[in-house]
Amino acid sequence: MAKCLECGEVLTGRMGQKFCSEYCKSSYHYQKNKQKESSTYVRIDKQLKLNRSILKKYNSSGQSQIKKELLEKEGFDFRYYTHSWSAKNGNEYHFCYEYGFRNLADNGKFMLIMWQDYMK
Ligand SMILES: [Zn+2]
Repeated sequence: MAKCLECGEVLTGRMGQKFCSEYCKSSYHYQKNKQKESSTYVRIDKQLKLNRSILKKYNSSGQSQIKKELLEKEGFDFRYYTHSWSAKNGNEYHFCYEYGFRNLADNGKFMLIMWQDYMK
C-alpha cells in the first residue's frame, strides 16, 4: 500500500499518487529544497574551514611560498575564499578567514600571507 511521502497517511487515490494532499506535496518539496540549500552551505563552509586549516599548517611563519600541488593534495580548493584584498602594487590576495594566498601562476606556487590590520 502506498503512503503519503510527507505525512505517511495511506493513499487511496489513483496509482502513482505520492501525496495525500496539495498541502503535503508543497510541504515536502519545500523541506527538500531547504535541505538542499543547507547541504550546499555545509559543503562550502566545510571547504572554507579545510582551506583555512591547510593555509595555517603551511604558513606557520606568517609568510611563505608553497607548491600548488601540495596544497591541492591536502584538499585545498582555491575557488573558495571569504574575501579578497589588493596590495598597493596591484597583487590580489584571497583570504580564508585570516589566512591569505595568491596564485603565483608563473612558478606553480602559492604565496601565503596573514591578514594584517592595515589590509582594510
Ligand atoms: Zn499527507
